[in-house]
Amino acid sequence: MIKADLHNHTRHSHAADSVAAMAEAAQAKGLEFFGLSEHSPRPDGYLYPADYQEKLLATYGQYIDEVKSLRAAKQNNFRVLLGLEVDFMPDEEAFARRAVSGHDFDYVIGGLHFQGNWGFDYAQADWDKLDETRRRGCYVRYYRDLAALCRSGVAQIIAHPDLIKLFSADSFKRWLDTKEAEEVLAETFGLMKELDLIMEVSSAGLRKPCREIYPGPRIMELAAGLGLKICLSSDAHSTAQIAYAFDELESYCKSFGFGGSWIVEGGRQVALPFDKNHC
Ligand SMILES: [Zn+2]
Ligand SMILES: [Zn+2]
Repeated sequence: MIKADLHNHTRHSHAADSVAAMAEAAQAKGLEFFGLSEHSPRPDGYLYPADYQEKLLATYGQYIDEVKSLRAAKQNNFRVLLGLEVDFMPDEEAFARRAVSGHDFDYVIGGLHFQGNWGFDYAQADWDKLDETRRRGCYVRYYRDLAALCRSGVAQIIAHPDLIKLFSADSFKRWLDTKEAEEVLAETFGLMKELDLIMEVSSAGLRKPCREIYPGPRIMELAAGLGLKICLSSDAHSTAQIAYAFDELESYCKSFGFGGSWIVEGGRQVALPFDKNHC
């Protein structure tokens, strides 16, 4: 059974529920480790057409305090962890570095959501305007940016490592069959291995138009072959989504040969085998 869900949001950004309600629901679902990983504030000029930045900036300190107080009240079989999801932009590395310093985070998840100032995970309509060649350009850029995120050292966990497929899953699958994809992916995921970063496997993709776990089978095979460490998450934006489809997520990971997942507590990687009794 999966015992940890490390990637979750609250109403401090664009999710539905409070920190306390999320933690309570996670405990009720039988998780042993529950990580809150609210979005980091973004640099000026990076906005979605409808955005939560103003709200987040107003209560960001409160988010940190609320999670810290739950973390301090730790129980034997349930721990709350303080995480952060950094929206990484290669041109704004100094900003990301400042965002992750100054607070006592258990871990930082690094995720890509922007190319330049375009939030690429916002609207299907944006992708409908792009032909196959331009989409492929976005995929290549995504993995180059992901490599920059790995190299930056700001994150210990790499979020949803094929989020770029969200609105163009068929084109993305065709691209995966190309020599270009093979080379770009080998470089980026090789770097993840070299730097001992943890790759997130997220059930959130099942709820999105791509209808597929992040990352898809091709990248899972590559990750398994490299011996990458993985962590599991739901990227929940409400109490109902915590540990979303975790049974499916566990069999998916096992089918590629993964024997367990990892968490990061106080900056230290900890292994959680899927079947403790059999390992
Ligand atoms: Zn994300
Ligand atoms: Zn997220």
